[in-house]
Amino acid sequence: MNENDYSCPICQKEKINIYHEKIQDDTIKIQCDRCGDYIACGRIISYGQTNENWWKQKHILSAIIRELNILNNKPININSPPIDYYLSTYSIPTTPKEQADRLLRLLSKIHPESGERFILDNKNDYPLCFGKNEKELSYFLKFLVNQKYLEEFEEIEFGPEYEITVKGRTYINEISTEMSSNQFIISIEKNHEKESSNF
Ligand SMILES: [Zn+2]
Repeated sequence: MNENDYSCPICQKEKINIYHEKIQDDTIKIQCDRCGDYIACGRIISYGQTNENWWKQKHILSAIIRELNILNNKPININSPPIDYYLSTYSIPTTPKEQADRLLRLLSKIHPESGERFILDNKNDYPLCFGKNEKELSYFLKFLVNQKYLEEFEEIEFGPEYEITVKGRTYINEISTEMSSNQFIISIEKNHEKESSNF
């Protein structure tokens, strides 16, 4: 089987890359354009595929994994702590305003340079706003442009280009302390890793 024939166990996106890690026979590293990079074992994946709670919240799972991936700059291990733990403890945005803030923060992490222009791949980037689909991402991008936190430029081959404005970067700095609750979960994850590496 070609490695590109797999689908992502979290979001079901097809044609993703899966690499077997050497640590354990059953442990694999998954690279999904939508969820980012994560590490999972076969047991966790079969549990997810048969668990209704997982299935209903798969867009949230994608968003959590993608966000942690960006904030930590490394693949997220969903075996330890297990993904159910994230679902019950992670700071998931509950209002459209919070979703827009999280999107802007992630865009500023991915594109830290002032004046940097970028395009988005809406089909795969909608987890950045904790959205269910690409329409939600378009909706929040429009909001950020209207707020003058983002500037939208003419559409090039793959879609419009964006740039985070000075106003947008200032706003993100101002609210970064409010968002620090997410640092909690990241430190918890690091502690878990330390524990598991002791075995
Ligand atoms: Zn995925």
